Amino acid sequence: MMPKSKGILKRLMEQIERTQEVEYDCGEVHRLLDQYAELCLEQGEDARNLMPLVRQHLELCPDCKEELDALLRALEATQDET
Ligand SMILES: [Zn+2]
Repeated sequence: MMPKSKGILKRLMEQIERTQEVEYDCGEVHRLLDQYAELCLEQGEDARNLMPLVRQHLELCPDCKEELDALLRALEATQDET
């Protein structure tokens, strides 16, 4: 056993774990955005807790945030009609 390579492996594993925890790309967020927008309207703050990765991406990505705002406006408009 070489302690050095073990250290590298450990660091790699930590990186992978971190990446899985933290990152959604725009495509994944877009797929979940409908769901997220509905949750936002139904559950308010809870939606952010239920889909923390989406929320996190939205905080970092103005494009997706804009997309969400548009969706929310559309959903709110539909709800007003009914
Ligand atoms: Zn994005």
